[in-house]
Amino acid sequence: MAYDSANIFAKILRGEIPCDKVYEDEWALAFNDIAPVAPVHVLVIPKGAFVSIDDFTADASDAQIAGFYRAVGKVARDLGLAQPGYRTLNNTGSDGGQEVPHFHVHIFGGKTLGPMLVVE
Ligand code: 5GP
Repeated sequence: MAYDSANIFAKILRGEIPCDKVYEDEWALAFNDIAPVAPVHVLVIPKGAFVSIDDFTADASDAQIAGFYRAVGKVARDLGLAQPGYRTLNNTGSDGGQEVPHFHVHIFGGKTLGPMLVVE
């Protein structure tokens, strides 16, 4: 899938629309989700044109990958989530329920989160 530079997270990265920023460094931007489903719900996105974990892990440099995942861990630590814990989630593609086609990791925390998936 080709990267669509008109997606909402690309616009946030370019500063065209605002976000409630939590953290930023050379590799990543983290901001609060506009529709949180937990007391803490932060999105971490890489500063590059990647659709999903599929093309990110195939095409990003080692520095981009390391920098991004270090940022995910740092955000969680800085938010005080390392203890008692938290959840990270990445949705990929239509079966994965991905709405925004710019690779991102959700960080959920601030309460006991329950089972990983709803069993149907
Ligand atoms: P996905 O389903 O792609 O994994 O998650 C996309 C997430 O982006 C959703 O949790 C949704 O609430 C969030 N989101 C969509 N548009 C915006 C926006 O403009 N700003 C922020 N902060 N979050 C957004």
